[in-house]
Amino acid sequence: METICRCGWCNLSNPLYVAYHDREWGVPQHDDEKLFELLILESFQAGLSWETILNKREAFRAAFDGFDPKKVAAYGEEKAAALLENQAIVRNRRKIAAAVQNAKVFLEIREEWGSFSRYIWRFTDGTVVRETGKASSPLSDRVSADLKKRGMTFVGTTIVYAYLQAIGVIDSHDPECFLHREDGTAGEPEPAAEDAGRPVPAGFPGTG
Ligand SMILES: [Zn+2]
Repeated sequence: METICRCGWCNLSNPLYVAYHDREWGVPQHDDEKLFELLILESFQAGLSWETILNKREAFRAAFDGFDPKKVAAYGEEKAAALLENQAIVRNRRKIAAAVQNAKVFLEIREEWGSFSRYIWRFTDGTVVRETGKASSPLSDRVSADLKKRGMTFVGTTIVYAYLQAIGVIDSHDPECFLHREDGTAGEPEPAAEDAGRPVPAGFPGTG
């Protein structure tokens, strides 16, 4: 019999949830398409369970053109109205508008930084923060403030904290979980090769 211990929140009766916990959550993510997908999903989660979002993930993917930020940024009123009629996703006018707006800001950040990955990982100098039992932190406060300043919405500090956990900037696997790691063990992200030597844009908070 399998006796793997997982984080307490992981609903073992939902295979989607187990797969998400085991293979995605907390794994350092550097792929911009995935970083955008998770940003959109986390912003839609506000006020709902993550399981609800996971169950609708493929419907979201179909509705949002495979989470292509360029396509989402170009959505007009007609597309927004169609999304509002789509019963397979979360039908919330403000969240749909936020997805379009956040896609535009995402592209601006990518333009400025070369990749969104480079931008988001710079907040921790490319390292993983390991901590459990929190819903926000000074780090998520800083990231949230910067994203808001750039024009994103539905990126409050608790949403951002959950996002940072999802993309592996923060690793929050419970001490009992088989994926729990101590500081200094495997799992540190490798900086992307193309980032080497690129100058850091001026005015970025918290870097030296
Ligand atoms: Zn875990």
